[in-house]
Amino acid sequence: MQTPPVILLIEPQLVENIGMTARAMMNTGLRELRLVTPRDPWPLGEVHQKRMAAASSGADEILENAKVFASVEEAIADLNYLYATTARTHDMVNRIMTPRAAVPDMIARAGRGEKTGVMFGRERTGLINDYIVLANAKITIPLNPEFSSLNLAQAVLLIGYEWYQTQDQTPADILYTGGSVPATREEYLNFYHRLESALDEAGFFPTEDMRPSMIRSLQNTLQRAAMTEQEIRTWHGVLSALVGIPRRNQHS
Ligand code: SAH
Repeated sequence: MQTPPVILLIEPQLVENIGMTARAMMNTGLRELRLVTPRDPWPLGEVHQKRMAAASSGADEILENAKVFASVEEAIADLNYLYATTARTHDMVNRIMTPRAAVPDMIARAGRGEKTGVMFGRERTGLINDYIVLANAKITIPLNPEFSSLNLAQAVLLIGYEWYQTQDQTPADILYTGGSVPATREEYLNFYHRLESALDEAGFFPTEDMRPSMIRSLQNTLQRAAMTEQEIRTWHGVLSALVGIPRRNQHS
């Protein structure tokens, strides 16, 4: 995993948002938080500290290691490439990226040994132009154009989410089977044949003509269930209970 970008909150107003930012960062594998002149002076008093800790839901490590700076210039001094997040265009010539485009750019830069950072603005006013111009590029999260301004910590979460997705190896679609394994074809067919003969005995197939298509349909449905060995055993039990004959006496 490449070194994640530093997250910078510029003049955050609410300690809850700082706490929720730490939580979002911990959720998404981001590590370094920098704060520039938070509204409530640092270190926080007991009441603010408690409110922040509650909002962080245990992401203490990020908060304990957070660094506080007196100016944006000092906070960004060691960064090689800085992104500013904003919901607005600011009427300036500038490179504007989506998070989906910005994250691979960050990863490529980290791979070349560059230190990157993502800057977030104050809740009420966002980033002022004087700060925006300090960044190399801007990130705008594409959202409903009529209502695109996010809560500060949620904006951090969406950037972190995009960051995490590019490194995550979770298979997109798996059949979770716990301790059991998918049934073998033989186990499946044994069950299916037993079902078919029970249906035969019960007079389920109205005519021989209809039989092949009904059989295909039944098999298709059962195959789609992708049953495990344990599930096949359970369905044998179901069948036995319905026909009133213990499985062992009917089939071996
Ligand atoms: N009223 C402010 C909104 C500030 S929201 C404004 O109009 O700019 C607080 C911060 O969250 C913003 O400064 C920005 O860093 C981030 N943010 C909110 N919505 C965003 C979006 N759609 N795309 C990128 N960043 C966003």
